[in-house]
Amino acid sequence: MGAEATRDKERFLTFGAPAIGEAEIDEVLATLRSGWLGTGPKAARFEQDFAAYKGVENAAALNSCTAALHLCILAAGLGPGDEVITTPLTFCATVNTIIHAGATPVLADVDPLTMNIDPEAVAKKLGPRTKALVPVHFAGRPCDMDPLMAIARDNGLVVIEDCAHAIETEYKGCKAGTIGDYGCFSFYVTKNVVTGEGGMVLARSDADLAKIKVLGLHGMSHDAWKRYGDEGYKHYHCVAAGFKYNMMDLQAAIGIHQLRRVEAYWERRRSIWRRYSEAFDETPLGMPAAVPAGHRHAYHLYTLLVDEEKAGISRDDFLRHMTASGIGVGVHYLSIPEHPYYQASFGWRPEDYPQAMRIGRQTVSIPLSARLSDEDVEDVIAAVLRGLRRY
Ligand SMILES: *Cc1c(COP(=O)(O)O)cnc(C)c1O
Repeated sequence: MGAEATRDKERFLTFGAPAIGEAEIDEVLATLRSGWLGTGPKAARFEQDFAAYKGVENAAALNSCTAALHLCILAAGLGPGDEVITTPLTFCATVNTIIHAGATPVLADVDPLTMNIDPEAVAKKLGPRTKALVPVHFAGRPCDMDPLMAIARDNGLVVIEDCAHAIETEYKGCKAGTIGDYGCFSFYVTKNVVTGEGGMVLARSDADLAKIKVLGLHGMSHDAWKRYGDEGYKHYHCVAAGFKYNMMDLQAAIGIHQLRRVEAYWERRRSIWRRYSEAFDETPLGMPAAVPAGHRHAYHLYTLLVDEEKAGISRDDFLRHMTASGIGVGVHYLSIPEHPYYQASFGWRPEDYPQAMRIGRQTVSIPLSARLSDEDVEDVIAAVLRGLRRY
């Protein structure tokens, strides 16, 4: 255990602080100096680079994964009267976007080991109004896509993969976001590739992707961003009441360089992950399940489960202890039915989704950024061990 018990204020380890290189900084400055800050050639370039990384033809850059989810639901033609099944162990945006489209979210509990939506629970929630499935590859671990896709096929459901944690994820060699009809990615500051705020959509259908690009920029006809380009002013036509969801070149400038380091960062997080797993192996903490062969985990979150009975400390006291030790922590997530809005709107109760409820009440995410030094990692480990009564 480190001699220094607690990191001082200046060295507080911010949860999810991203690794930013000089290349991103230079590209942002060059973008600022160019006079073209908004959606333009760099956003188009980032789309092409991301599509190439995923082995697909096209992608649509947006200003968030939330926007991406919303537009996929709209592009799929979902709306009032339609039910969309998703997981209770996710960020609120997954559920909110279903609501924004006027559709009805339906929750299916998670598998206690993988923390991903349980295909058997999904099967029990199917009904005549079920139109779509939004699986979330939680923490970067792929959902069990074969049975989920089989359910979708048998019931004519659209599948929208929430890949906010899953840029590098693969399921049996298939890249996350290319298995369902749509894949939505996030480049929020804590995610594996960052642009500040940002998102990306992959779609099986080129027509859908084109629709999403139009809806993401006010509903203006294709490539309307070129209206101020050097080819001269171009008239555009509004073909839909669209949204202001476009990604700026200023954001793409960061993403282009982040994406070039995506594999190096993944390697770094994997090595931190392994160090954590070795360090906590003998403790009473619950640790992430091993990654089955043939799959690729994106190592987005390292989650520990603090069961007060076993650990001798409550989860919330553990969170306070980590913060007091100078280590930023997260909770991913209090289950969706714990939140008052959803209780009031849908009558959901946490105890009806017991696996997600238990995980949500025990889970703590510890830092897992590629930015962490070996010393940071050892500080995190020392703080975790000090938080447990017997260590
Ligand atoms: C971060 C996140 C989102 C939202 O992404 P934004 O880019 O912040 O809109 C959606 N779903 C999950 C599971 C997330 O973690």
